[in-house]
Amino acid sequence: MLPRSESNKIKEPVRYLLTVGLISLQVVTVAAILIASRASTEKVLLDHMKQIMTSVVTESIDRTKEFLAPAEKAAHLTRNLANHDVVSAGDTGAMELYFFEQLRVNPQFAGIYFGFSNGAFVYVKHDGNGGYLSKLISIDGDGRRTEFIRRDASFRVLSRRFDPDDTYDPRVRPWFKRARLTRRLIWTDPYVFYTSRLPGITTAAPVFDESGNITGVIGVDIEITDISRFLGSLRIGKNGSAFIFDREGNLVAFPDMDKLIKPASSGAHELRLARVSEIEDPVVRAAYEQAGDVKMINREQFSFVSFRVNGAAHNAVFAPFGAANHWSWIIAVHAPEDDFLGPIRRNQRRNLLLAIAVGIAACILAIPLSFSVTRPIRALHERANRDELTGLPNRRYLLERASKKTAGAVRNRSPVSVAMLDLDNFKVVNDTCGHSAGDDVLRGVADRLSAALRERDIIGRYGGEEFVIILPETGLSMAREIAERLRASIASAPVMTSAGPVGITASIGIVSLVPLHTDVQALLDAADKALLQAKKGGRNCVRVSDISEDHGSAPERE
Ligand code: GH3
Ligand code: MG
Ligand code: MG
Repeated sequence: MLPRSESNKIKEPVRYLLTVGLISLQVVTVAAILIASRASTEKVLLDHMKQIMTSVVTESIDRTKEFLAPAEKAAHLTRNLANHDVVSAGDTGAMELYFFEQLRVNPQFAGIYFGFSNGAFVYVKHDGNGGYLSKLISIDGDGRRTEFIRRDASFRVLSRRFDPDDTYDPRVRPWFKRARLTRRLIWTDPYVFYTSRLPGITTAAPVFDESGNITGVIGVDIEITDISRFLGSLRIGKNGSAFIFDREGNLVAFPDMDKLIKPASSGAHELRLARVSEIEDPVVRAAYEQAGDVKMINREQFSFVSFRVNGAAHNAVFAPFGAANHWSWIIAVHAPEDDFLGPIRRNQRRNLLLAIAVGIAACILAIPLSFSVTRPIRALHERANRDELTGLPNRRYLLERASKKTAGAVRNRSPVSVAMLDLDNFKVVNDTCGHSAGDDVLRGVADRLSAALRERDIIGRYGGEEFVIILPETGLSMAREIAERLRASIASAPVMTSAGPVGITASIGIVSLVPLHTDVQALLDAADKALLQAKKGGRNCVRVSDISEDHGSAPERE
């Protein structure tokens, strides 16, 4: 059989197209699904994360307001009672009892007190052990008297004590001064209670007599550690958390309560709330920096920000809240993005690897599968294009290739030559040695021609004992050399046949592409004419078409 060199190879793009097409289609499909699903799930999850954070914010705000509302109510109520003399300046015992009731039903109240305009004072607070402690300052003609009363959980007196050295004057305290100045209910900024050493705020309201003069100020101290406790109990992803700060950047509530309080100045006994910027947690600090422009937070109900800490993406949501003219705080809820997107991203990475593995496996299967499926196509292709006897491309296929090569040469202004070869007196071989020996000669000649040609040349069986050779990139003089080589390769030695060695020769007509004859049929006709000249010239020789001789050929590029 003939070696499958370029000169006698039959191209079958269908099978490769099919295989490559199937694989590409699969790769594109898988990639499209993965990319689309990744983009959409990320968006859904980010929205979900925002929703969670927003609802945490809303819930925290509600809880904080709920927690603080009783203080305001108590202050209002007490003020009204005082206004109507129910809890009157004249009866400190009734006032003390009333304060005790308020403390009992509102466990977050640290203490309630009333400061009189004359400097008298009634104060009841939790003693920290389930009991109560009262401080009563009375002012009368004899002067000033301070009494401390220790009471049990049922408000029964445990002990009484007078303190002649006490100098406390409610009228110089900030809560008293502000309530008197504004003549309405006020809230202080959060601070640390001196006795309990816990963070809190104070609400205070002035009490008036009939003429509109202030008779005193009622105050409620409310511990706000429960807000921190509530923030600490929140589950925001795996590592998210929340904190509340005021407009000056002081923490109001923080899940880790140990970090909430700091000494007011070094070595001092007094305490203050920590500033957010003092918290060592880099994520808290970075989130707080994002809040930098508080005006931005004022405008929006919820402000979302994204930031990076040590390369990891975090998201935060801020929301301002408060009671009009009283207090104005900002809640921040923050969480690493990975808490929400991490698992799905890892899952997607796994899916991608799986898809790649399946894709590779499918490709490995697809190649032999596609080749076996297309085997009939290949057989059909072979039968349609190859000459059965010699194994060379047949006339149909040869003409197809020849017209493509010629058109390409015209387009690229490159030379191309055509040789037409006919065996001499072949009829005699058939007649003397038999048809089958004639077939052997045809096969032997086909082999010799293929062997003598270059990779790029194309040979085909054009008719009975006629062969056509396309010589791309070949000008006339090179074509003449090749034709001479082909002629010699046939004439050089007899061809072995079933009937013994048979000597054979061939005549060759050649033509090169010239401007006026750019069509493949014109070239073949010219080559055929040259071949006839070779026959006339005594056979076993090469003749050049006169169209090529007349015009010369395109410059050669060898
Ligand atoms: P010339 O030198 O002028 O070409 O003489 P010739 O005998 O080769 O010319 P002619 O065209 O008269 O003869 C060609 C012969 O080739 C006729 C035909 O029987 C024979 N032939 C054609 N195809 C085949 C084939 O496939 N096998 C065999 N064995 N012979 C074939
Ligand atoms: Mg012939
Ligand atoms: Mg012949």
